[in-house]
Amino acid sequence: MDEAALRREIVEQARRMNALGINQGTSGNISARCGAEMLITPSATPYETMRPEDIAAMPLQGRRGTWRGKLRPSTEWRFHLDILRGRPEAGAVVHTHAMYCTTLAILRREIPAVHYMIAAFGGATVRCAPYALYGTAELAAHALRALEDRNACLLANHGMIVVGPTLAKAMWLAVELETLAKQYYLAMQAGEPVVLSEAEIAATARGFATYGLQAPTADE
Ligand code: 13P
Ligand code: ZN
Repeated sequence: MDEAALRREIVEQARRMNALGINQGTSGNISARCGAEMLITPSATPYETMRPEDIAAMPLQGRRGTWRGKLRPSTEWRFHLDILRGRPEAGAVVHTHAMYCTTLAILRREIPAVHYMIAAFGGATVRCAPYALYGTAELAAHALRALEDRNACLLANHGMIVVGPTLAKAMWLAVELETLAKQYYLAMQAGEPVVLSEAEIAATARGFATYGLQAPTADE
């Protein structure tokens, strides 16, 4: 995808994350890899009025924090940059203040394997990173640690982060993570959630490797 198309997609997906109910107001932010740069939503800008030319561009290598554009990049550029720098396979990062993810993050709870879909996030848990002030290098360091071997984490008393190969996949993961958080939260209200084993999640992960890619096969 060329830069102009990617800028349009970021604006479209930013509006979509609020329309989907996984974020609200000017909270949250989105970045996407574009060659040697990271494109990122501007800070404190309503998504409804945001235009493709408002998206800021920051070099992935070289001096941290430099940017081009008309509007200042998101205050969370540090964790977006560190994730894209550290993970060559990552194409996009989505951060939202989704209601159920944030509720669990306020309780400082990681999400256990209460549904097999947790395998989509790289393991049997989605961790909750310790609290640090928004926009700080400390928050970025906490987030990167919580994201080890994972493509999602919660941020204590704040929200969540998902990482995907493309922006479309990252937004899909964001919706799945909020769904999982909601299921876990509701199950806790009704009783004691049953947690799947590491082996059950590993088996799901093996299935996911080909899920949606193959014609159905008959059971032996
Ligand atoms: P920005 O508007 O600067 O992107 O900040 C929103 C946010 O979610 C901070 O964590
Ligand atoms: Zn935030």
